[in-house]
Amino acid sequence: MTRTIRATVMQTPTKDHLEVLHDVAITYETTGAEVGTIVEICPFSQHGKPANETLPEGSVLLPGLVDLHIHAPQWPQLGTGLDLPLERWLFEYTFPLEARFTDLEFATRVWADMVTTLLANGTTTAVYFASQDLKATTLLAKTCVELGQRALVGRVAMDHLTGTPEWYRDESPSSGVAASRASVEAIRALACDRVQPIITPRFIPACSDELLQGLGDLAAELSVRVQTHCSESDWEHGYVLERHGMTDTESLARFGLIKAGTVLAHADHVTDSDLQHLASSGAGIAHCPLSNAYFGDAVFPVRRALSAGVSVGLGTDIAGGSEASLLAQCAHAVTVSRMLEDGVDANKPADSRGVAESRIDSIAAFWLATVGGAAVADLPVGLIEVGRQFDAIAVRSGEPPSPLRRWDLDDDTRWFEKIVRLARPSDITDVWVGGQTLN
Ligand SMILES: [Zn+2]
Repeated sequence: MTRTIRATVMQTPTKDHLEVLHDVAITYETTGAEVGTIVEICPFSQHGKPANETLPEGSVLLPGLVDLHIHAPQWPQLGTGLDLPLERWLFEYTFPLEARFTDLEFATRVWADMVTTLLANGTTTAVYFASQDLKATTLLAKTCVELGQRALVGRVAMDHLTGTPEWYRDESPSSGVAASRASVEAIRALACDRVQPIITPRFIPACSDELLQGLGDLAAELSVRVQTHCSESDWEHGYVLERHGMTDTESLARFGLIKAGTVLAHADHVTDSDLQHLASSGAGIAHCPLSNAYFGDAVFPVRRALSAGVSVGLGTDIAGGSEASLLAQCAHAVTVSRMLEDGVDANKPADSRGVAESRIDSIAAFWLATVGGAAVADLPVGLIEVGRQFDAIAVRSGEPPSPLRRWDLDDDTRWFEKIVRLARPSDITDVWVGGQTLN
């Protein structure tokens, strides 16, 4: 069985190209092993059959957004507590909150609230750090299955005696590996292709070498993706240089944690040599522009990473970033790239204030949020094209109090730029994941 939607599509197949498909028929499978897969896109005038659904005049269809970095248990502190450096923020605000998720009633309420909200914001794929608690992690995966969000869900492994508090850690490297194995098995047992496990060492400062090695071995044995943080701040990057005498990327690679499908959050401080390594391994980066402004001590050089051949997508880094919307991160990615290029200190001469050729535009930012993220997560989404999953959002010209409006002076390029910068959940009228309508 198939279903056909008639719509005008706006999307970015490459980072410098806006594609507009006016009045097309998009047909996807609704049953069988290929459910959700797009099988045909053609001009509606050539389709020859009525559509099952037609988007209203003025609405456009865009690919769903791929958020590569979310700390699910930090959802209740979104928008708060951004006044401390990373190492204190973790111990004073974040670990105490994450430790609460052994309370499954609390976890149930938070997960449902968060997944519902993210879907309404157009986040059709989410890559989650869950909590250290095995049951709460499985519950998050179940919530994604029930509410229809595509997700990679990872139990957070952390055992380091000084890098974690004794009330929120794995008891030993072996128990950390065993719990991570059990989490992979529990999520796979849900038997939902859309929701898959991901091995999740928190970051090197929170993990013993034995745990990192065990998780690298486990990822290879079970063929599971990996996510972790990488060279996030001066403190974190410097800590790894001191402890291991090498960068995060070099060290994670020793443990088998850098491979195709690995999602590395932040990576602001990666070296050119690190970028070469990531490009050849197939690992990718979750660029979290707003969070980096609070904790990263630097702007991630997105154009330098892309030029080196590294896959890059975007992350909200809830709650290190204080916004839930990945479209908002597109705007932030553009903003920080301009600040990197221009520099920030007017006391310095203009020609030596910034880093040349660093800026990106709204088209590149949306590409990061869709195609880029899909490549990093190694998922067939991010673009409305034959062979990929029908993960999409419909956006229309809004009404007050939303500022999103299409005036007669707005051609397609301007209208797209407005959507990327201004669209609110109230402007997102429909959300599909795998062809399933979620509203
Ligand atoms: Zn993070």
